[in-house]
Amino acid sequence: MEHGIAQKSYLLALLEKWVAFESVTPDQTACQQDIADNLRSMGFCVDLWQDNGVNNLWATLGSNNPDFVFVGHTDVVPAGQGWQTSPFKVSYLDNRVMGRGVADMKGGIAAFMAAMRLVYDDQQKLPSMGIMLTGDEEGPATYGTVSIIKAIADKMQSIKYVLIAEPTAEEKTGDTIKVGRRGSLHLGFNIHYPGKHIAYAQYEDNLLHRLSKVLSACENKKWDQGYPEFPETGMQVYELNATSIAENVTASEAKLRLNFRFNPASNPDSLLAQMIEMIEAEHLNIVDTNVSCSGMPFYSPQGPLRQCLQSAICQVTGKKANISTGGGTSDGRFLASEGVEIIELGLPRRSIHQANESVSMTDLVELMQIFESVLRSLMDVSLSELAAQSQPNQQAGMHHG
Ligand SMILES: [Zn+2]
Repeated sequence: MEHGIAQKSYLLALLEKWVAFESVTPDQTACQQDIADNLRSMGFCVDLWQDNGVNNLWATLGSNNPDFVFVGHTDVVPAGQGWQTSPFKVSYLDNRVMGRGVADMKGGIAAFMAAMRLVYDDQQKLPSMGIMLTGDEEGPATYGTVSIIKAIADKMQSIKYVLIAEPTAEEKTGDTIKVGRRGSLHLGFNIHYPGKHIAYAQYEDNLLHRLSKVLSACENKKWDQGYPEFPETGMQVYELNATSIAENVTASEAKLRLNFRFNPASNPDSLLAQMIEMIEAEHLNIVDTNVSCSGMPFYSPQGPLRQCLQSAICQVTGKKANISTGGGTSDGRFLASEGVEIIELGLPRRSIHQANESVSMTDLVELMQIFESVLRSLMDVSLSELAAQSQPNQQAGMHHG
């Protein structure tokens, strides 16, 4: 179909242009400037600014206080070694598009932009919405989404539906959407137990033997009761240091660092308390504790955005998406609050952050078609109207852990 081919080349032209901006986090290139020009040509009001060297963009169309917001990031991780082609130039290999950021996530933004262009050219208008793009999602995330939220503080109340085009698919576009993310908690313990002369020590006199019992007990431990649509809370030890003063003396100090990925049934206090209890049950002495929570879990139960995305996915791919809350945390955590439905839908994630990052042409085009279908349905009825039509118990809401 002529129309389809033109749209595909528009999508690829955007992607070619944006991949060429070497927007290694934080993005300080003109990539968002180019996106802004595109948005203005479709009637958006666009604000662009830099906060501590991070480019950010906020744009609105229709209402000044939109209830639906599309969220993305223009920064990418460094290219690294091992590329077959130049990472900051789009290459076409077989049916694949290769380049840094094609999946994470310039491809997702390009698919949304091309979908908007298609609907706009067709109808000379678009549904009311906001667009939020940050330049430091892949970095410390201090001056990106957080800065935008500060800048539009008076509009945050009206935002009820957030669509993030992060790469969420396992194998094919539309096979998986994320409706929440687990929290991330780092715990550090400095542990003391008297050192003993090895020749006289019993097995249980040894700090490391005792600590290994703690860690093996963690392996099969249920940290909470579980939570619907979330994987189990899991823990990984990522650092364990202990040294002895001489080869005939058992270690007396150990430094243990671990990370929890936790669902809303747990919280930092409950996990810390359980770890302390297990360590102390082995009569080990905790001399110092370090607690750092880099993200609380968030979750959006069934709501109008999920319903709308599922029917668009079904229309394009013929299948319903699996619901997931796995993987690392995302910028969605900053937007999560009572009554906000946040869903991530994007390209397959297999090659992200790696050399030869690539996506198939089919996945890109299907993502554009899914977004097009979403935009067309929002022309008829807004998500808030859809929510009002549905049962009160099906309305979106935030559940915090
Ligand atoms: Zn990303």
